Amino acid sequence: MNVKSETCFSNHDKKPLSFFSSEEEAFSSAKYAKKRYGHSLLPYLCEKCKMWHLSPKSRHTQSEECSYCTDSKGGLKQLYVSNYKAQKRADILFKSNGVLLNVYSCPHQNGFHLSKK
Ligand SMILES: [Zn+2]
Ligand SMILES: [Zn+2]
Repeated sequence: MNVKSETCFSNHDKKPLSFFSSEEEAFSSAKYAKKRYGHSLLPYLCEKCKMWHLSPKSRHTQSEECSYCTDSKGGLKQLYVSNYKAQKRADILFKSNGVLLNVYSCPHQNGFHLSKK
């Protein structure tokens, strides 16, 4: 399913963006695009319409540093592009060192952080 947004447009070519009601749906569409066209796309939650869009992966890194939030040691926190990615990372960390981490959305920008409970 590929539905075009009436509120959100591509910065690049001004065409309406496709939107998805869930992250899973966006992910499966991204997977399809990768297979079919070789495009690497990443889902992100849109602040405007509260739906999921896809954007080229080149504009994202899997995780980057937040320019606003710092951890307990004063270093910049890792910023994850999606809740799903952050949760996966938390699962890996839990399995490797038994530390349970919470996913929460960054109060300053689009993205997610992990914090100790
Ligand atoms: Zn939108
Ligand atoms: Zn942040």
